[in-house]
This record gives sequence, C-alpha cells and structure tokens, in this order.
Amino acid sequence: MDFIKQRRLMVDLQLRPRGIKDEGVLHAMATVERHLFVSEDLQESAYDDCALPIGCGQTISQPYMVALMTELLHLEGHERVLEIGTGSGYQTAVLSMLASEVYTVERIPSLAERAQALLERLGYKNVQVRISDGTIGLPSQSPFDAILVTAGAPEIPEEYIGQLKVGGRLVIPIGSRYSQVLYQIRRTETGIEKSDSTGCVFVPLIGEKGWKEEGLY
Ligand code: SAH
Repeated sequence: MDFIKQRRLMVDLQLRPRGIKDEGVLHAMATVERHLFVSEDLQESAYDDCALPIGCGQTISQPYMVALMTELLHLEGHERVLEIGTGSGYQTAVLSMLASEVYTVERIPSLAERAQALLERLGYKNVQVRISDGTIGLPSQSPFDAILVTAGAPEIPEEYIGQLKVGGRLVIPIGSRYSQVLYQIRRTETGIEKSDSTGCVFVPLIGEKGWKEEGLY
C-alpha cells in the first residue's frame, strides 16, 4: 500500500474538488497518517471517502468532513483549540499541526487512552487528552480561540459560547440523533453570529448538556 499516494489522491479527488481551499488544512490532510488511526484490518480503506468504525460504537469522521470542519475554524497557528470527541485522535492530529495548543476531551476512557498513546508515539506534542463529559466544555482551560465538536448535539451548549474568546469560532453539528447540520458560530462583543454549512451525520454527543445514553454499544 502506497499510503503517501493515497493521501495525495484523497486531497486531489475528495477535498479540492469539493471546495477545501485552505492550503494549511490541505497540507495537514496530506501529512497526517490516517491509516494509523484505524485498526489494521481497515487500513486499506483509511483514505476512502467515508467514516469508519473505531470501536465502542464510534467512528473516525470522513476525510472531507474533517477538512471542512477544520477550515471553518480559520486557524492561523497561534490558537488554543478545544476538540470535543477525541475518538481515534485523527482530527486532533490535524488540529495539532495547525494550532498552538490542542485540548481534546473524550467520554469513553478506552478511546481516550488509545488516542493519547498514539498521538504521543507519533510525536504530536502540543496535545492534551482529557477524559470527561465534553458537553460542559473544559472550563479549567478556557477561554479558547476555537472549539470543534465532532459529535452531533441537540442544541448548542451555552457553556461553549462562554468558553470562547471574543472573535472565537465554534464549529458544531446540530440536529437530531441521526442527522445534523454543521454550524459555524462566532462569538462577538455582544453575542454570536451563526451560519450553517452542510448536512452531516455524526454519532451523538452524549452527556449532561447533550443526548441521553441509549442502551449499550
Ligand atoms: N474526532 C474523532 C471523531 C470521533 S466520533 C476522530 O477523528 O476520530 C465522536 C466522539 O465523540 C466519540 O468518540 C464519542 O465517544 C465522543 N463523545 C460523545 N459524547 C461526548 C462527550 N459528551 N464528551 C466527550 N466526548 C464525547
């Protein structure tokens, strides 16, 4: 498997044609070794145009969705970023290349521990993984320049707005348990500006300010 070539094809066939323009984001997508964030039996599919299972009923997001969400954060390199939903750690690695500090919160300990070990092994040094309910953000480390939520929420938890700097961006899928719309929200001096981007399907954001847990995974 020529993974370098597969990444180049992913960028040229899946990302650029759909309008991803930020060269920093495209470079990060061409660099981060996505196949290392999935189980060995799925490595050959790692650069396909889809989400993939990562265990515990969770998924690594589709490459295009990772690129789009990252682009919507408008990162320049100096930011402190909060990610909710570490999952495999893949999106975290992409953020780590584009920001100064990345905090990432995961509610399922086994996923958080695996992601932390992998990110450490791969040398992503500006990342801190926390195990907690991310629906209340990460108050101890706020304020953030950008917050990215990689699970679908029923509505915008107020806490996220409160933990953004003025001018800070929040990207979050909002909708039902099974389908959402991706929103980009900017905190202003007086409130928020909100715009919607595209339809999407994420696993549910589960917790105090999100969905209730449903059965076992
Ligand atoms: N960014 C991840 C996508 C993971 S899917 C990646 O690149 O692989 C979304 C993740 O959000 C799942 O791992 C799920 O367990 C987690 N999640 C759901 N509700 C959460 C909550 N309240 N706090 C933290 N993580 C949560």
